[in-house]
Amino acid sequence: MPLFFFFAGGYGWRGTGGATAFYELGINDRINLMNATKPAAAYRYHTGLYLNITNRCPTTCVFCIKNKWKMDYRGSNLDLGGAEPDTKTLFALIKAEWTQAPFDELVFCGYGEPTMRLDVLLAAAGAVKSGALAPVPAGLRVRLNTNGLGGLVNGGNIVPKLKDLVDSVHVSLNTADPAQWLTLMRPRPEYAQTGFKCVLDFIRDAARVIPETVATAIKDNGVDLEKFTALVKELGARPRIRARLEE
Ligand code: SF4
Repeated sequence: MPLFFFFAGGYGWRGTGGATAFYELGINDRINLMNATKPAAAYRYHTGLYLNITNRCPTTCVFCIKNKWKMDYRGSNLDLGGAEPDTKTLFALIKAEWTQAPFDELVFCGYGEPTMRLDVLLAAAGAVKSGALAPVPAGLRVRLNTNGLGGLVNGGNIVPKLKDLVDSVHVSLNTADPAQWLTLMRPRPEYAQTGFKCVLDFIRDAARVIPETVATAIKDNGVDLEKFTALVKELGARPRIRARLEE
């Protein structure tokens, strides 16, 4: 599949075809087309379309690869440079991507915590679910990858808002030990005291109403994986032990 970058409002996405879209662009956007280092608010991975809606994050996880990989993710530049995409831009990106090649799921996952922009997340998930982004089919699977701090960041339980809009949440919990959680996740000071509890509450609440709730941990991180697995099951979610991303 030939890969091109098309840009709208400074955000790139990959795909095929798009000649009409090209000629609808202004001259500056056409020139930008030659610049493959433009930030990607949407990128492909496996069979999904991933949305990178923010670079802000309430944690600085020890295992985060964004700095080591210089904000690149397998060929996509996820450095938004502080210019977060608005909903109109995201809607256009999602529709254009689908037109170029359908995807199995829409995933909120980039170099930043998606719930930092909960309103945008809900708007995009809602538009997809309702069929407002035709030809994207109504009800397409939506997944959220999160560190589980959305409740603290947004000042209240966010699970009721996600219900019916998100089919799957993957929560980066990483440990059953609150002290170890602090050393692994390195939350901002204002989230240190109540962060671990917030993540557990989020997983428990999500497991009750979201069709799939998965809590993840990384192998070889000095974590007691038996305790981790037991805790996740007690919360009603599914544990997943994953390998560290290759360096
Ligand atoms: S939550 Fe994700 S983006 Fe944020 S620091 Fe951790 S790994 Fe990196």
